[in-house]
Amino acid sequence: MSNFIPVGNRTAFQPVGRCIYCGSTTSLEEEHIVPYSLHGHFVLPEASCRLCARVINEQIETPLLREMLLPIRTALGARTRKPKDRPRDFGVTLRAADKTERHVRVPVKDANIFAFGLNMPEPGILAGRPANTAVECESVLNLYNPSRTLDAVQPGRSELMQLASFDHAVLLRFLAKVAHGYAVAEYGIDAFDHLLPSCILGVPTKAAYGDLIGGDRKPIESPVDAWYLIEKYTCIVRATQQHYAAVRFKLLAMLPYMPHYVIVAGPLRRPMEAQSSTRASRPSAA
Ligand SMILES: [Zn+2]
Repeated sequence: MSNFIPVGNRTAFQPVGRCIYCGSTTSLEEEHIVPYSLHGHFVLPEASCRLCARVINEQIETPLLREMLLPIRTALGARTRKPKDRPRDFGVTLRAADKTERHVRVPVKDANIFAFGLNMPEPGILAGRPANTAVECESVLNLYNPSRTLDAVQPGRSELMQLASFDHAVLLRFLAKVAHGYAVAEYGIDAFDHLLPSCILGVPTKAAYGDLIGGDRKPIESPVDAWYLIEKYTCIVRATQQHYAAVRFKLLAMLPYMPHYVIVAGPLRRPMEAQSSTRASRPSAA
């Protein structure tokens, strides 16, 4: 079931009244569940203290949005609060078959741009894997060329050029952040035990990313006309009959081959019927 929400429809949930990451009740700011620059429109008022907001901004959102995803955001015309800073060209490394490299500047409209994702098995806590198991995940690359139609690249060609470095941990922490905020909004802050905040804030924890963050066994194959898809995704582990608050999320859903993620926010304190409502936002016409 899809329920598209046009860009600009700011949807504010009930004010939370404490920081959803650390529990502080002072200096609370509103929290954008998906960032503005990815066309997010869900807002949690009074939900993030200044300290946590700063960690998330400096360690997750700035590297992800202004470095790793900057080329693809620019090519897709993502909205920005700093339009003057929008790049007009990119530095590109061309690597020939004999491994020699050449650095050139390419106008945005002519660039072949990669969008990154991670293919992962389902979260370990749902799959019954022992906690803290290292998980193999593989990068998914999407090639996008603004002056052509959406295109996908053969894996063997992926070393042709590189536009941005890609840090898996930043993406995983971002997925945790989006899922935690959305779970608080949809389930309620007191409805589940919070497993994600230490992962989001970069605090050392016994849990491995793969315990809580993974892929979807039944991904939506075709791209949709949306920046992202997000939905509540209550899961039950049959062996223990434990219900978990979880979120299904797809970033840059308009591109082919982007993975669908399942992120477990924590065990529900009271069992809840599995229910889902898909939310999406349309790409900007900008
Ligand atoms: Zn906080």
